[in-house]
Amino acid sequence: MKLYDNLIDGTMEELEKLQGRKISFDPASAWECLENTEFIMQRDAGLELGGAGMPSVNYTCVTTSGKVLEDEILVYGKDIREIKGDTAFARIVILETEDLGEDKDQEKAFQAIRNLEFVRYHVFPKGYMVRVSSQSNQEQVRISSAALKGGIDFARVGAAYIKKYKEVSQVRKVRVIFITDTELVKVLSPNADKVDAITKTLTHILDGLPTDCGHCSMKPVCDEVEGMRELHLGKK
Ligand code: SF4
Repeated sequence: MKLYDNLIDGTMEELEKLQGRKISFDPASAWECLENTEFIMQRDAGLELGGAGMPSVNYTCVTTSGKVLEDEILVYGKDIREIKGDTAFARIVILETEDLGEDKDQEKAFQAIRNLEFVRYHVFPKGYMVRVSSQSNQEQVRISSAALKGGIDFARVGAAYIKKYKEVSQVRKVRVIFITDTELVKVLSPNADKVDAITKTLTHILDGLPTDCGHCSMKPVCDEVEGMRELHLGKK
């Protein structure tokens, strides 16, 4: 799976321009998670990330190219405990997986991608309410005062995400990136639409889209993303 590699490289290049913090994954430090989403009332909220008109974005890229060598959390900008007011917010996940076999067993690859998409929206850290807009790829988070008092931070929330992703058998390594630097969130935001376009095209191909490029609405994506056209037409 190399379809997202250019976007991963572009993301990492932007991150390198800023001083970040890297935390190795420690499963024991993972913040407690609930079975379902928890509604946090405004009066119980201690902090909002990505709200009040501030930029926010969320996207996930998959690779098999050895781009993620260890499970890790990267933080750019202030951590939860340092934030005082409204702030921009991005959560980007890069997954190193085993070969999903998208060019051989489409059914299996399709299921693996669906499982990864499921995790994206099904991690529920306690006192950390995530509101996503899958249409705009925004992600807002409301953190309860109780969670703040309990010492919640990105390292512990990131560890909770990594733990959940590693339950998917094809996942080898996970990098979770949290960003609260406004300019960086703005710069990276357009990537979310590109990731979406690739994922949509890929799932259509795996779902049996006809191989007629002349009448295909996915053509702009295939023109731009290396390997996409080969994946579809080579399959025939
Ligand atoms: S290879 Fe052609 S038919 Fe297949 S998704 Fe791309 S543009 Fe459409």
